[in-house]
Amino acid sequence: MCIFCKIVEKELPSNTVLENEEFMAFHDIYPKAPIHVLVIPKKHVESFHEVDSDTMAKMTPFIQEVARTLGVDKTGYRLVTNIGSDGGQEVLHLHFHLLGGGKLRWDHGHGDDPHKAL
Ligand code: 5GP
Ligand code: ZN
Repeated sequence: MCIFCKIVEKELPSNTVLENEEFMAFHDIYPKAPIHVLVIPKKHVESFHEVDSDTMAKMTPFIQEVARTLGVDKTGYRLVTNIGSDGGQEVLHLHFHLLGGGKLRWDHGHGDDPHKAL
């Protein structure tokens, strides 16, 4: 069983923000922003590339509810999902990183070499 499935089954502890029958949101153990929450479907789906549209349709309002619960819905936040090896995905259970709690840096182009992303 993957680590996020163990969190779903409460075999591993987590600092939960919101939960319903199908989805769960909990604080990332190594936060990369003042607010860093992971949102997952409870059923094991490897990544965004494998998720079905019905699950995504239901996940969307759940993520919006998580943002409201965290109080970042008005100020803004960033939603990121890493996919596979090149995407930098380490835990192979679909999760969206919800980052916020301050103005997040974003290196908007400005003539940067695309290969600096590597
Ligand atoms: P990825 O690199 O797969 O997109 O992100 C995995 C995330 O899961 C990382 O940000 C990492 O800090 C977080 N993480 C890994 N193991 C645990 C854990 O056991 N509990 C929690 N809450 N977060 C974890
Ligand atoms: Zn899993």
